[in-house]
Amino acid sequence: MATNVIRVGRVEILALSDGSLEFDLCNFFPTIPEEQWQPYEAHLHEHRVRFNLGSYLIRSDGKTILVDTGLGPRPADAPDAQWGQLLHDFQAKGVRLEEVDMVVMTHLHRDHVGWNLTPRGTKYVPTFPNARYWMSRKDWEACHQPDVQPARFPNAPTCVWPLEELGLIEFMRPEQSLTRDLTTVPTPGHTPGHMCLLITSGGERALVLGDAAHSPVQLQEPDWVSRADMDPDLTRQTRKALIERLEREQILVAAGHFEAPGFGRIVRLDGRRYWRGL
Ligand SMILES: [Zn+2]
Repeated sequence: MATNVIRVGRVEILALSDGSLEFDLCNFFPTIPEEQWQPYEAHLHEHRVRFNLGSYLIRSDGKTILVDTGLGPRPADAPDAQWGQLLHDFQAKGVRLEEVDMVVMTHLHRDHVGWNLTPRGTKYVPTFPNARYWMSRKDWEACHQPDVQPARFPNAPTCVWPLEELGLIEFMRPEQSLTRDLTTVPTPGHTPGHMCLLITSGGERALVLGDAAHSPVQLQEPDWVSRADMDPDLTRQTRKALIERLEREQILVAAGHFEAPGFGRIVRLDGRRYWRGL
């Protein structure tokens, strides 16, 4: 069993999960003909793609930072859903919700903001009562565009918008230091304001990938965009540059949608890139 906790210099990263999602290939990657998946059958689950709904809890510089908050509570009409487990995972791993000082969202898609808030009557309260909630301004603006919001940010009205009235929002800028060890890396394309998080401590580095890639297959096929990638061309451009950097600088990666816990490195074998899990 792969370890759920790694250390990067003085920083600790704990992998948490809200469960998983599965899609038919042609549903999630509508532009990729099914036969092109043949060499990658090992990455599939009964011919479907499965995505872990990973969050990372980072302890850095005296702060506890939760990156992404999953898809959220399982709806009553979907009793078999394989998600909705994040708070159970907190409990299982001995972390209290009160410990979280900062919730950082790589982007505002529905599977990254789901547990931000808890309904209380007609109002909402923060699920992480001591946290400020960090997001990019570009995604905040995108999730308010009437022509974009319903399809691209369906749960923003209940999971993101109320944060404003609660006065809990902090906007993060590209290349901003969130703590002594933690810097935002702009990686637009999947969403306009998508950001990865670079951890630098004690001469070691790691990157929380967000949705810059959904599957290890995209390390070999960086042009494969999914229906979730809002700007396909920019997504490809960003992904290629990021993958090259991660390989060249041998930066450890925390990939929330890869198989849990999602820690690994990009390695090269016979001229091709591969994912090597820790
Ligand atoms: Zn996602």
